[in-house]
Amino acid sequence: MTARILDGNAIRDQIYAELRPEIAELCAAGIQPGLAAVLVGNNPASEVYVKSKVAACEKLGLGSWLFRPAESAATAEVLRLVGDLNRRDDVDGILVQLPLPRQIDSRRVLEAVDPAKDVDGFHPISLGRLVRGEPGLVACTPLGVMEILRRSGIAMEGVPAVVLGRSDIVGKPMALLLMHANATVTICHSKTRDLAQIARRADLVIAAMGRPAMVTPDWIRTGAAVIDVGINRISDAAEAARIFDKFPQRLEQFQKKGSTLVGDVHPDVAEIAGAITPVPGGVGPLTIAMLMSNTIKAARLRRGQTAGASAARPASGH
Ligand code: NAP
Repeated sequence: MTARILDGNAIRDQIYAELRPEIAELCAAGIQPGLAAVLVGNNPASEVYVKSKVAACEKLGLGSWLFRPAESAATAEVLRLVGDLNRRDDVDGILVQLPLPRQIDSRRVLEAVDPAKDVDGFHPISLGRLVRGEPGLVACTPLGVMEILRRSGIAMEGVPAVVLGRSDIVGKPMALLLMHANATVTICHSKTRDLAQIARRADLVIAAMGRPAMVTPDWIRTGAAVIDVGINRISDAAEAARIFDKFPQRLEQFQKKGSTLVGDVHPDVAEIAGAITPVPGGVGPLTIAMLMSNTIKAARLRRGQTAGASAARPASGH
C-alpha cells in the first residue's frame, strides 16, 4: 500500500484562515494579541526558528517583539526581562527560545514565565493542567500533531497508540493528549526493549526520538498512521544513500547541498503505512501555527475577550 501523505503546510494554511477573523475581531475590540520572543545569544538554529515565529506573527497581524540578551547574559538578567514582559499588558505570550546558554538556569527562567502567558506550555502549571485534562496552554508541537490527526480524520478513540520518546516538550504531552482523546497509549524511550515489536502492535505511531530514519517498515503494522515529529540534519553521504535509496530526487538534493533534513521515520515506511507525515512539511509547520493559536488564546483568556473562539481551538480541546 502507499500511504496517504498528511500535508502539514495545507493544514497550517487552513488554521491560519480560521485564526485571521478571530484576530480581526480581537483587534476591533482594541486587543492586538502579541508575542514576545526571548533569544539569548547567537545559536544559528535558534535564530532561524525565532525569525520564522516572528515572521508568522507579522503575516497574521499579531504584535511581536524580539529581545536578544547577549550570549554571556546571567540568569538574573533574563529573569528581569521575563519579569518585565510578565508585567506588560500588551504582551500576551512569552517565548523563551531553547536551548539557553549553559550558565543560565533554564528551569528557573521557564518557571518565571507567567502561566497566563506560557504559550509554549512548558510551565509546571500548564503541564499540571494538561495532566488533569483541564483547559490551558499546551506545548505547540504535540498540539499540532493533534490538529493533523483530527483534521485528517485519523481515529484515536480506543486505538492502540505508541509514542516513541518521552521528552517534556514532545513525548510526554503527546502521550497525555492522546490519552485524553481516549487512545490506549504506550510510551517508549531509550530503555524500552523490543521497540519494533511494540510499535508494530499500534494503529498510530508518533515518532519523537531525534534519531534519523530509525523507524523502518518492519516496525509498522500495515495501514497504521505514522506521525514523524523528528527533524534531523544528516550530512553523511553513506547514510543519505541508505535512507534515500528509493528516492533519487532526495538523494540528488542531498548531493547538491551536502546535507538534508530527515525525520525519525524511514521514508520507505510510506509503502506500508496508511497515512504518514513527510519531513519537511509535516509536523513542523503546525508547531508555529499552534504558537500563533496559543498566543491568541492567551490574549482572549487574559484580557477577558470571549468572542470569536476559532474553529482551530475546539479541534484540540485545549
Ligand atoms: P529529546 O529531548 O532528545 O528526547 C528524545 C526522546 O527520545 C527521549 O525520551 C529518549 O529517551 C528517546 N530516545 C532517544 N533515542 C532513542 C532510541 N534509540 N530508542 C528509543 N527512544 C529513544 O528530543 P525532543 O526535544 O523530544 O525532540 C525529538 C525530535 O523531535 C527531534 O528530532 C527534534 O528535532 C524534533 N522536534 C521537532 C519539532 C517540530 O516542530 N517538528 C519540535 C520539537 C522537536 P530517554 O528519555 O530514555 O533518553
